[in-house]
Amino acid sequence: MGMLQDFICPACGLEGHVSGGEDCGMLAATTTIYCETCETLQDALVVKNLLSTPPRRYKPRCEQSKSHPIKIWNRSENCPRCGQAILKVAENGVETMWD
Ligand SMILES: [Zn+2]
Ligand SMILES: [Zn+2]
Repeated sequence: MGMLQDFICPACGLEGHVSGGEDCGMLAATTTIYCETCETLQDALVVKNLLSTPPRRYKPRCEQSKSHPIKIWNRSENCPRCGQAILKVAENGVETMWD
């Protein structure tokens, strides 16, 4: 089961509704990326059809364009935009379960 949370950077205000790292549902796995062109956090699909053998693997990419440079980011790392702070989880943010 995957869970998405609202993250916000206290230094630069970058926001995203993402899982904050590698995440896995019943049929797919995602990893959180930061697109340097769009300046957004996204969950990118990395494995589809986990139950098939072998599972189909994808390179994480921006949902807008595969030519955008991206960084893989997880919640224990500093903000991928400004590098100044750890992103906070909004206390009254929405948590989304996906699957
Ligand atoms: Zn920041
Ligand atoms: Zn992009």
